[in-house]
Amino acid sequence: MTRPYIAGNWKMNLDRRSASDLAAAVREHVSGRQDVDVALFPPAVYLEEVARIVAGSPVRVGGQDCCEHDEGAYTGEVSAAMLKDVGADIVLIGHSERRHVFGESDELVGRKVTSALAHGLEVVLCIGETIAEREAGETEAVCGRQLSAGLSEVLPEALSAVSVAYEPVWAIGTGHTATPAQAQEMHAYTRGLIAGLANDELAATMRILYGGSVKPGNARDLLGQPDIDGALVGGASLTPDAFLPIIDGAS
Ligand code: PEP
Repeated sequence: MTRPYIAGNWKMNLDRRSASDLAAAVREHVSGRQDVDVALFPPAVYLEEVARIVAGSPVRVGGQDCCEHDEGAYTGEVSAAMLKDVGADIVLIGHSERRHVFGESDELVGRKVTSALAHGLEVVLCIGETIAEREAGETEAVCGRQLSAGLSEVLPEALSAVSVAYEPVWAIGTGHTATPAQAQEMHAYTRGLIAGLANDELAATMRILYGGSVKPGNARDLLGQPDIDGALVGGASLTPDAFLPIIDGAS
C-alpha cells in the first residue's frame, strides 16, 4: 500500500501574509509525521516564500502549471526550470482550469509533462471529464485520451516521478463530489490504463489522487476506496480548519 498523498491547490487565492500563515500551520501539523505525504501548490509568486517556510519538514511545494519551453520570449509564463530554481519539487499539469479556461490541448499538456520531468520536477497529471462527456458515456475515452497524451513522451523509467489526479470537471469547485463508488470506478480504470502503458508493478505503486470538492466530511470515505491514494484539494485547502482534518482523515 502506498502512503496517502494530500495536496492543496491554492489556485489564485490568498496573499503573502495568509499564504505564509497557512504554510506554517500545515508545517506545524505534519511535523515529524511519516504516515502521510503533503504537498502545497501556492500561486507562483508565493512559491519561494512557502518553500522557505516548510523547508526541513515533510511538506513539499509545487507549481500550479509550467510553460512547455525552458526560456525565451513567452511573456507571463514560468518555466519548469524556474519553478525548480525557487524551491518547487512538483508541478500540477493539465488541471481542468488550464484545459477548459485557458484552452490547453492534450498535446500541450504532454509537452509540459516532458519539460517538467526533464527539469527534475515530479508531476501530478490531472485528467477528468466534463458533465457533458460523462452524460454522453465518454468518461473512460476522455480520461484515457488525456492520460495517454499526457504521458506520450515519457520514458517508462521516468514514470515513477508521475502521479495522476482524477478530477471530474463537474465536481471541481461545485460542491458536487463524485460518490466513492464513481471515483473508485475511474481510479481502477486509470490504474488499468497505466498498467497497459507501463507495467503492473508501476501501476500498483503510482499514486492516483481524487479531486473535486473534497472536504473533511467526505475525505475519509473517498480515501477509503482501494484505488484512491490521496486527494487534490482546492477550496478546502485554503484554511487550516478544513485542510488539516483532511490530512488526518487520510492517515
Ligand atoms: C482542484 O482545484 O483541483 C479542486 C479539486 O478544487 P475543489 O476541491 O475546490 O473542487
